[in-house]
Amino acid sequence: GGTADAIARGDYRQRAFIANRDELGTLAQSLNQASEALGSQLIELRVGGQQQATVLGGMIEGVIAVDDRQRVLFANRAAGKLFGFFPPQVEQRPLAEVVRHHTLLDTVAACLASARPQRLEIEWNGLSLSLQATPLPGEPCPGLVVVLHDTTELRRLESLRQDFVANVSHELKTPLSSIKAYTETLIDGALNDPEHNTQFLRRIEEQADRLNFLIQDLLALARIESGQQPFEIGSVALAEVAHACLDDYRPQAEAKQIRLVADPQADAGLLVTADPEGLRVICNNLVDNAIKYTPGGGTVRVAWRPAGGGRVRLDVEDIGIGIPAEALPRVFERFFRVDKARSRELGGTGLGLAIVKHLAQAFDGTVSVASEEGVGTTFTVELPAA
Ligand code: ADP
Repeated sequence: GGTADAIARGDYRQRAFIANRDELGTLAQSLNQASEALGSQLIELRVGGQQQATVLGGMIEGVIAVDDRQRVLFANRAAGKLFGFFPPQVEQRPLAEVVRHHTLLDTVAACLASARPQRLEIEWNGLSLSLQATPLPGEPCPGLVVVLHDTTELRRLESLRQDFVANVSHELKTPLSSIKAYTETLIDGALNDPEHNTQFLRRIEEQADRLNFLIQDLLALARIESGQQPFEIGSVALAEVAHACLDDYRPQAEAKQIRLVADPQADAGLLVTADPEGLRVICNNLVDNAIKYTPGGGTVRVAWRPAGGGRVRLDVEDIGIGIPAEALPRVFERFFRVDKARSRELGGTGLGLAIVKHLAQAFDGTVSVASEEGVGTTFTVELPAA
């Protein structure tokens, strides 16, 4: 009974020896056919299983299949990584031993009991996961498949966006409230008060300007970020851009008796690869800040030189109030200000450095800052040399 035993052992390649066409021969033949059919089905199953395992193994989603008694039938690598197990070792084990997450286990139980798909968000090890439990077809329900998707980054972006909208609303509200308050005061009689009416109108104008700057900065940032800003990237002479910027800001510097200088050692012919208009915005925003945050009588210096590795650096240096160490990593965030009241008073939008950072990145460059409170600040932009 070698052949029958072999088939029972799962070896379907065995063939019964066909002696003659008598009854035994017919039996042998049908045994061979059955064996062939079984074998090829099994091969199909194995190959199919292997392909499935490969596909599931490569998925970023965690996948766990369990039977009706909540024993693990299959788990992929991603699921193992999430819950700290080695997938081949958990097969046939109770899910509750493998995954110690109450909500997940409750959901699996509910899905098995109702034979209805379940979907919810769970937290695990500081991650946000979206969990979907889908019953396997059959009556009664033979098991289910759990798919876990890491939505941490999505949630983070969502909360960034919510914060941004909240910030923008707040920033728009402040000047609008002022405008409304001054307008009401004028309507309530101050209009006929020759001592104050012009003063109130000036305040309204100031606040309207602030709104305008804010909206311009927001639009600039949105355009750069969307990648829709049509930059004309080419070689630009840094000296030209820097001197144009210094000329623009001379009146503002003079009003505060601030010396605005270009490094005399700077190379007049140094070229960078950038969009000239964008480079000018970078330079303007940095010089504008340097003047704003430097007390009267100080100096603001702009310097540029090769930085090695095919890069060029532009430094804007002041001897102003400086930035506290704990605030340094945040200054490039939108709406971050060390001192909100001071920034507003100086006409700041809190977006200048965010714009600088995004522009620098759009030109394959970087921006960094070094500062000491009460000593001064240097912003450095590095760009590819042309
Ligand atoms: P703002 O419109 O408030 O100037 P920015 O994005 O340009 O917005 O700058 C963010 C914050 O970084 C400022 O509010 C200020 O606190 C700080 N900052 C920027 N530049 C300087 C500087 N040169 N010296 C000191 N603080 C600075």
